[in-house]
Amino acid sequence: MFDVAEDKRLSLMTKIQLALLTPLLIVVPGLLYRLHSATTQPTQPDKINSYRPAITPARAEPDTDFARHVEQLKKKLPSEGFSIVVQPPFVVIGDESQAAVKEHAEHTVKWAADKLKQDYFTKDPKDILDIWLFKDSASYEKNALTLFGEKPTTPYGYFSGTHKALVMNISTGGGTLVHEIVHPFMEANFPSCPPWFNEGMGSLYEQCGEIEGHIHGYTNWRLPGLQDAIKAGTVPQFKKLMAMDARAFYNDDKGANYAASRYLCYYLQQRGLLVKFYREFLAHRKDDPSGYQTLKRILRVRDMKAFQQTREKYVLTLKQAYEITVRP
Ligand SMILES: [Zn+2]
Repeated sequence: MFDVAEDKRLSLMTKIQLALLTPLLIVVPGLLYRLHSATTQPTQPDKINSYRPAITPARAEPDTDFARHVEQLKKKLPSEGFSIVVQPPFVVIGDESQAAVKEHAEHTVKWAADKLKQDYFTKDPKDILDIWLFKDSASYEKNALTLFGEKPTTPYGYFSGTHKALVMNISTGGGTLVHEIVHPFMEANFPSCPPWFNEGMGSLYEQCGEIEGHIHGYTNWRLPGLQDAIKAGTVPQFKKLMAMDARAFYNDDKGANYAASRYLCYYLQQRGLLVKFYREFLAHRKDDPSGYQTLKRILRVRDMKAFQQTREKYVLTLKQAYEITVRP
């Protein structure tokens, strides 16, 4: 059941150094969870909290701001069994084993931040941001309420600008973590970034790996819904999607907006134009706040209606990455 695209992807995969495979392995459990979540409860890891709270600097960090921040954090840890790893510009706090928290900090957080900065972002977020990695949904729900007084509206995780925190249920996989890491970087580097591009870039990298040293988004669980919406003719036109403010984007058919944005970014990536688009859009954002004119220029397209139709046909040919691997 391997198609051409799948073969191509696998041949690219063979070029990836063994060390670079880790991020791919990290994101797959997230997909697994989503594929099964409709019918089954996720199996929670059976952890024994026999360890003591531990502070592990990921590297020698003389920065007193971080030291002070960690001291403050230690006072507000909701219970015993949490580890803290300093991974600038983030501090990672988790209630899995110390080794697991360190692994997430180095192989997901550091990797994603480094790779995103390599292609897109020149500035770190200006504040130290906390990444809370709760080991299961019970810990995630309970501690989000205890620490921030809010009940999560998603089972996976979210970024709270107010609390300067990424709050994650890490049992759903590292994909959502990479998605949420995009947001504070976007906030620091792309003033007034419209929701379609902020969420398009975040969701592009929620299923990601590395190709030739660069971060690469793969097709994922948002694809079938988008294909259904294309067949039903309910996908918003690019002009409308790109002009949406936060209220329209997050309220009106949110799932379709995320998916349409993600696969526009994916399409640009596959044509080797995404990094160029990001830079051009950023440079011209005052004249073109939605990015629509920049998109037309980058694609060298005059008739966007015709382009949308071509692009929709292209989306219908895509297959969900790892579908074969994870299908029960
Ligand atoms: Zn997001």
